[in-house]
Amino acid sequence: MKIAVLAVQGAFLEQEKAFQKLGMETIELRKKEDLEADFDALVLPGGESTVQGKLLKELGMFQDLKSRIENGMPTMATCAGVILLAGTLTNDSRTYFQTLPVSVTRNAYGRQLGSFYQEGVLKEIGNFGMEFIRAPLIEAASPECTILGTVNDHVVAVRYRSQLALTFHPELTDDLAVHRYFCQNIVNEIDSMP
Ligand code: GLN
Repeated sequence: MKIAVLAVQGAFLEQEKAFQKLGMETIELRKKEDLEADFDALVLPGGESTVQGKLLKELGMFQDLKSRIENGMPTMATCAGVILLAGTLTNDSRTYFQTLPVSVTRNAYGRQLGSFYQEGVLKEIGNFGMEFIRAPLIEAASPECTILGTVNDHVVAVRYRSQLALTFHPELTDDLAVHRYFCQNIVNEIDSMP
């Protein structure tokens, strides 16, 4: 089972390390040719969505990845990745994959609350310490989405079909529970896990 991590910008290395700790093989998607490799799941890391979205298009990777997500490839998105998946952005005229039926506001917590840590409970996962970094806000999610977590009444984690979207950064903590959940419940890779 191979997990492909979009590696054009942002916190992709941390994602690779987290999945490797769970015994997963990871590959990096840096250019169009990398899409020829076999992989079973996709990770869209945190970073800067405008830069990632622009590079995806310039590098000729956008349409291929969009089709894969639409066709059910298990996809885990954190922070900027959620912006790439969102159907609607409330404060930006740009949109990207639009495969996730949620409405998202970028940089919604304002300057002072740009980065913060908050413990909370994630459904099906349990207690989890969440790192938020200039996080987007999921303003609304279609009823087809399963809300997995909220912080201060704001949705911070949703699942829609094979897409898992998190406005925080689970790869920046030592707790692998969210990555394990993605592997076990969405990628369905339960063999060879420590
Ligand atoms: N603020 C970033 C954006 O709008 C997201 C931040 C992050 O991924 N930590 O793309």
